[in-house]
Amino acid sequence: MSKVHILEDDHFHDHCGVFGVFGHPEAAKLTYLGLYALQHRGQESAGIASTDGGDLHLHRSLGHVQEIFTPQALENLKGSAAIGHTRYSTAGDTTLLNAQPIMIDCNKGKLALGHNGNLTNALELRRRLEHRGSIFQTTSDTEVIVHLVARSTARNLPGALADALNQVEGAYSLLVLTRDEMYAIRDPRGFRPLILGRLDGAWVAGSETCAFDLIDADYVREVEPGEMVRISRGGIESLRFAPEKPHQYCIFEQVYFSRPDSIVFGRAVNKSREQMGRLLAREHPADADIVVPLPDSGVPAAVGYADESRIPFRMALIRSHYVGRTFIEPEQSIRDFGVKLKLNPVREDLEGQRVVLVDDSLVRGTTSRKVVRLVREAGASEVHVRISCPPTVSPCYYGIDTPRREELIASQKSPEEIRRFLGADSLGYLSLESLRAAVGDTQGKYCTACYTGVYPTELVQLEVEAHREG
Ligand code: AMP
Repeated sequence: MSKVHILEDDHFHDHCGVFGVFGHPEAAKLTYLGLYALQHRGQESAGIASTDGGDLHLHRSLGHVQEIFTPQALENLKGSAAIGHTRYSTAGDTTLLNAQPIMIDCNKGKLALGHNGNLTNALELRRRLEHRGSIFQTTSDTEVIVHLVARSTARNLPGALADALNQVEGAYSLLVLTRDEMYAIRDPRGFRPLILGRLDGAWVAGSETCAFDLIDADYVREVEPGEMVRISRGGIESLRFAPEKPHQYCIFEQVYFSRPDSIVFGRAVNKSREQMGRLLAREHPADADIVVPLPDSGVPAAVGYADESRIPFRMALIRSHYVGRTFIEPEQSIRDFGVKLKLNPVREDLEGQRVVLVDDSLVRGTTSRKVVRLVREAGASEVHVRISCPPTVSPCYYGIDTPRREELIASQKSPEEIRRFLGADSLGYLSLESLRAAVGDTQGKYCTACYTGVYPTELVQLEVEAHREG
């Protein structure tokens, strides 16, 4: 194993959403709607691949789902089965080539693949494959899977997929489409969600239930960790491609990433977040007049905090939902312009008030710092910051975009130093024990590496330790 690949590479940190339909005359349109509901999981590019039994069709582009899929583009995505993908990646890697689904034509036939997660040994595998002559078209970790599938000597596709997946490590919830089949696959630890549902006799699969709600599909069950679900005209077949490993559901899906109206890992996200807020109020009470969320992500936890503390809830920060990617700033720059574009304080609510400001997480601390200042400038007499998860001390290598360890404020500063940096009167984080309780994790099924620095996969743990020592 060569040194610190994962830590040095910025390319492979992306988070995404997947959605697919099998056996419906409007497969591409329904997939488009599913992606629309999963837009929060990735806003840089999106794509849909469809099959009409004879051929696979693909449309991918940079931008938001609504802009990418014109009526004509959807018209061209013919067939009764389709898979789709929304993608977000770190800067520098926003190329159309990396947009998904990836489509290839290989000795196993034509197939399209959409991936949510992050493979932790992708660089290692890629170097080995390149050494043997493989030519990669993208910088995405997902392409490693298709190369391994093509090289497999297994006689059928499920065998080749199993071959490939038994060589990769890390997080993957995958949808694969062939001319006449769809596969829904989840890694043996189940880092990322993946669920199955039904709609008018068709099968649907996707990252979150909010996508099923939009198209009136019924939730059936989760794809189990280590399970490959094969869907064809003949029906659905469950194949186990790898032995079960201790489950590692991503706790940050519950804290921030999933939509609150979804059920993820069998748990209503909104319920988890309100409970985080309640427990936060018990652990870190505040002598205050109002509870204000940092919208939108802080809202459910703030509702819980207000409920438990019996301090009135106020939407005293209003978020604009129309902020685009680029905007023109006047020559004489405006202080905190970026934050002000998104958030505006309601003076009437804040004037003279002692405020509990609730957000779901602190990463670099820059947003909260600016918001504390905005709230004070709007007249608040005290600002008590409450965060509905523990200090984020370690980056995620399993599919959530996080900055390097050095940029995570909690890995560099003590809670008291962070409080001073934010300019807050007090600061309280939810404990890990309470976070686990809030998501109903009695059996230790969640990955909490971002809060503990203890990674559930060996390669990452070894590299992180080597990096610390080096
Ligand atoms: P920061 O300003 O770096 O402390 O960012 C904290 C804010 O970013 C919080 O309001 C979170 O809701 C949000 N956030 C946390 N994690 C992520 C993530 N992986 N991607 C995008 N936003 C995030």
